[in-house]
Amino acid sequence: MNARQTPRKRDRRKRLFKTIACSGCGTCCSEPIVPVTDSDVRRIARATGRAPESFVRFYSDDDMDFAAESGVWIRFPAGVRAMGLRRRKNRCLFLGDDMRCTIYQHRPRTCRTFPYQTDLDESGALRRVTMNPIVKCRRRRVDDSPLTKLVRDSRAEDREDDRYYARVEIWNESVGGKKRMRDFLAFVERPAGARGKKSKR
Ligand code: SF4
Ligand code: SF4
Repeated sequence: MNARQTPRKRDRRKRLFKTIACSGCGTCCSEPIVPVTDSDVRRIARATGRAPESFVRFYSDDDMDFAAESGVWIRFPAGVRAMGLRRRKNRCLFLGDDMRCTIYQHRPRTCRTFPYQTDLDESGALRRVTMNPIVKCRRRRVDDSPLTKLVRDSRAEDREDDRYYARVEIWNESVGGKKRMRDFLAFVERPAGARGKKSKR
């Protein structure tokens, strides 16, 4: 391997990985609770016109299996919680009766890489792709693909996660344990660095 190749050039060599032919059974959108970032929440709220509290819920560590040191944990008076999509009838709120995502164009970043789990190197190139063990997908791995879109989505997910975890850290260090969940939603409703608009009144 030429160590001087840029990630983009390495991607162009089209190293192929096994992918699955998804049957659309809906298991991916039924079994796991979907964690969301502040950008996911703003994007979904904008696209659907819904208030964040109508589709977001805060889950405890009994519900979500993230390590204690993970950046997802937000401190509230009631204890630590992680932000995720609400569920209805034991599945994601946004899964339609036809087993299709009703917010597909605006779905959370993590949904865009499911059911794969990617291992990117420091330069962002794909080292390995495996099936995410959270879901028991019964489809066999059939096709060969350079997974260009998956790599792009994984990089975007990593960047978004890092930005969100930095915001959670700010919250935890400044008001964590003192303010409530609806205050956190108001906190993340504004993009990082955005200043509050002056009222015209
Ligand atoms: S479990 Fe497998 S087949 Fe079912 S929706 Fe997920 S990826 Fe597709
Ligand atoms: S947002 Fe859409 S893709 Fe993601 S879990 Fe819900 S229904 Fe599935």
